[in-house]
Amino acid sequence: MNECIFCRIARAEVPSSVVYENDKVIAFDDVAPQAPVHVLIIPREHYEHLGWDVPDDVLAALLGAAHRVAEIKGIADAGYRVIINTGVDGGQVVKHLHVHVVGGARMAHGMVRLAEGS
Ligand code: AMP
Repeated sequence: MNECIFCRIARAEVPSSVVYENDKVIAFDDVAPQAPVHVLIIPREHYEHLGWDVPDDVLAALLGAAHRVAEIKGIADAGYRVIINTGVDGGQVVKHLHVHVVGGARMAHGMVRLAEGS
């Protein structure tokens, strides 16, 4: 059985606050929000991160869902930020492809903060 935490959320074995879902993706509130709105969107199928193995329709579903989530959360007009941390240098912690949608407050213009020692 796949023990990936996001696979378990997709199978509803682990509780989550679902914001939106369709046949390809599921969106839920981040458990440790870094902005007033912080939602994660994951493909139902497991892919470790961005790569050629991720089908185009899944990529399209992830980004399409990002704007849908922003509408549901009421931040589509004000604006929001979409982030996909990828791999070690990208700061990815959970190894199941996911899109962060953050907003609800004005972001600083710079979006890159290097880890200490980099
Ligand atoms: P990343 O650093 O891009 O891998 O982001 C992983 C994100 O998953 C972090 O923002 C965590 O707060 C979030 N996270 C981890 N476990 C859960 C969970 N069970 N439910 C919701 N969000 C989670």
